[in-house]
Amino acid sequence: MSIKSLQADVLIIGAGPAGLTAGLYAARAGKKALILEGSGPSRLEIAYKLENYPGFPSIDSRELLDIIRGQALSFGAEVVPGDAIAYALDGDRKYVTTKDAVIEAGAVILATGKPFPKERMIPGEDRLVGQGVSYCATCDGPLFRGSTVAAVGHSEEALEDVQALQAMGCRVLWAPGKAGGAADSPAARALEEKGVAVRRDGKIKEIRGDERVESVLVEGPLGAEVVPVSAVFIFREIPAGPLFERAGIVLDDKQCVAVDRFQRTNIPGVFAAGDITCGGLQVVAAAGEGCVAAIQALVYLRK
Ligand SMILES: Cc1cc2nc3c(=O)[nH]c(=O)nc-3n(C[C@H](O)[C@H](O)[C@H](O)COP(=O)(O)OP(=O)(O)OC[C@H]3O[C@@H](n4cnc5c(N)ncnc54)[C@H](O)[C@@H]3O)c2cc1C
Repeated sequence: MSIKSLQADVLIIGAGPAGLTAGLYAARAGKKALILEGSGPSRLEIAYKLENYPGFPSIDSRELLDIIRGQALSFGAEVVPGDAIAYALDGDRKYVTTKDAVIEAGAVILATGKPFPKERMIPGEDRLVGQGVSYCATCDGPLFRGSTVAAVGHSEEALEDVQALQAMGCRVLWAPGKAGGAADSPAARALEEKGVAVRRDGKIKEIRGDERVESVLVEGPLGAEVVPVSAVFIFREIPAGPLFERAGIVLDDKQCVAVDRFQRTNIPGVFAAGDITCGGLQVVAAAGEGCVAAIQALVYLRK
């Protein structure tokens, strides 16, 4: 797969009401605004009916999202699909990486929605992100050719990523974490024949290692065992928090991004808006924060 190089004045991570509003303001001000849309849904897609968004006494939540999106696109904002999996934010130029692109920008607005709860992460996951814990087989799989790696996840995409790891020459221990998913398919059985160890009843309970991933604790019907591995690939919703922290962004104890009243994070040129800041947790608040973040990004770019 070839990696694309993209550029933007303002890069917005997330295409919910916060990110789209930020894109609308940045693009309307004449800046190249690129909105990265992750694979998970905006909460507004599943909110059903809203009765508290000003100007609309009652509106279907998807319709509202489409309207905001259309408005952002009409001013020239661009929406690009992809999950952000790595951030380099501390220089004048900021870099964000997805599976198939590196995006360079002058300012970045984080708008990835409600934080992924720490309790749902595997113990050790957040501490070892980038030190053997990865969310991207294409990006990091080749680094572990010839080594044993663990894989977690039960979706069709997880199956494809396990196939990719195996094809790259990794020895894979796959503990899907849930029975009845893609690990029960004929394609998964074909992988087993190629040497992938599928632990259908197994769950990875802990990722261990001091500086880097060294082993996983796998629990199954016959008990628990420690398996030495060099990496753990996690194929489910990407928790933004550990990636932000690794990039130097200050979070609170609930994984919310800390911002001041201008939506500025602790890193110059990096702003955050919407549920990720755990402010109002409402659409109107997300849109308002997206607006402030964009205006402040424009101020930052003028300096
Ligand atoms: C069932 C339900 C009912 C609700 N009812 C109401 C209501 O009546 N009124 C109200 O005001 N609010 C309501 N809300 C809350 C409202 O939906 C949220 O406050 C709002 O959607 C937050 O907007 P956001 O842009 O911050 O995040 P979201 O809308 O969640 O959007 C987040 C975006 O970030 C993207 N993303 C995530 N991670 C990455 C990544 N790594 N890389 C790239 N993109 C990424 C996602 O794909 C998505 O596009 C409800 C929510 C739910 C779940």
